[in-house]
Amino acid sequence: MTSDAASARPDPTAEVVDLCRDLLRIDTTNTGDNDTSVGERRAAEYVAEKLAEVGVESVLHESAPGRANVVARIPGTDPSRGALLVHGHLDVVPADADEWSVGPFSGELRDGYLWGRGAIDMKDFDAMVLAVVRHWQRTGVRPPRDIVLAYTADEEAGSDYGARFLVENHRDLFDGCTEAIGEVGGFSYSVNDNQRLYLIETAEKGIDWLRLHAKGRPGHGSMVHDDNAVTALAEAVARIGRHRFPVVVTDTVRAFLTEVSDLLGIELDPDDPETAIAKLGPIANIIGATIRNTANPTRLSAGYKDNVIPGRATATIDCRSLPGQSELLERQLRELVGPDIAIEYVQRQPALETTFDGDLVEAMSAALRAEDPGARPVPYMLSGGTDAKAFSQLGIRCFGFAPLRLPADLNFSALFHGIDERVPVDGLQFGVRVLDRFLRTC
Ligand SMILES: [Zn+2]
Repeated sequence: MTSDAASARPDPTAEVVDLCRDLLRIDTTNTGDNDTSVGERRAAEYVAEKLAEVGVESVLHESAPGRANVVARIPGTDPSRGALLVHGHLDVVPADADEWSVGPFSGELRDGYLWGRGAIDMKDFDAMVLAVVRHWQRTGVRPPRDIVLAYTADEEAGSDYGARFLVENHRDLFDGCTEAIGEVGGFSYSVNDNQRLYLIETAEKGIDWLRLHAKGRPGHGSMVHDDNAVTALAEAVARIGRHRFPVVVTDTVRAFLTEVSDLLGIELDPDDPETAIAKLGPIANIIGATIRNTANPTRLSAGYKDNVIPGRATATIDCRSLPGQSELLERQLRELVGPDIAIEYVQRQPALETTFDGDLVEAMSAALRAEDPGARPVPYMLSGGTDAKAFSQLGIRCFGFAPLRLPADLNFSALFHGIDERVPVDGLQFGVRVLDRFLRTC
């Protein structure tokens, strides 16, 4: 009898492993091209089915054939409160099987880890949320406020077929949502055996992708020529690539560095945060990118024949701006490239920044501390972008909070889009316990 009861009500920390493995086994590679991207529909149907099994109705919206999104609403006990949006994307970046130790879509369980593309970005969180909701439905738990679940397509290629599509075409699904949690936050960074920072994302840099266009006089490659588009473009690209933009310490980064310096016993000079950041080991590259605007040349294109000087040349620059700095960055770039190069924006999405305070932050911190007494929650800024950019357009206050306790020696940031992406099973189970507590008190 007891075994029947147990099988009718699986433990969410056990079930999360199966859910995550199932999702990892669905190849949802997003190539950035609708013709070659796969699996999002299957993954969306899987999620909808797992929700339906426990009585949660969801809606599935396709933005283009195969590009599927699933949204559901769990009613809370106090409808007068704003809803909490919990969002996760189902797509993953491509993986080259030849480079991996296991099949990237095998969902293999090995050495205490679940392996596969998407294991930390972000089928782990997708599975955790499913596990918690299924457990609640089986045991009659209701959250204090409405919780809107959104499982999206296309995050890895700019969200046009996922979060942006939903925000632009089905915004009623998010009625009443005031706050949101999603990816790239809530993970641990071990300071010592007893203390772990948990980085909660409260800010994201802006995305400012631009194309430089140089024009010149076309001509024969054998002659004297003083108006070469390739030369002009190359000079502008080199100036941008070598430029270091000034350090600007935002409120989020200041709060992070103050806490970290205190914990590590490092002297923090606000005018020289790089010295403190250099001592952070594997997360130095995450934090280091958030103290200034950056601009990295990523593509070059010019010419069609070895002995013909082309009339045009173009380059793409991947720029990331600090909150409130997009216009300033544009002026800085304009100055760097000079008057003869045209600048065209191909992608411009605003930076986000919210404060690290309020009831929701308290609930996150309390849930982390309850499951890890050595937890020190800190705010941080992500140098990349997530679906939060789209959802923030609805006036939703967005956080990155996908709780995960990680082993001290795991280089977590290298696993994002990396080879042998994997998530520790005990970390996944920790995440379920933290989310369960947090969502009951959100
Ligand atoms: Zn992601």
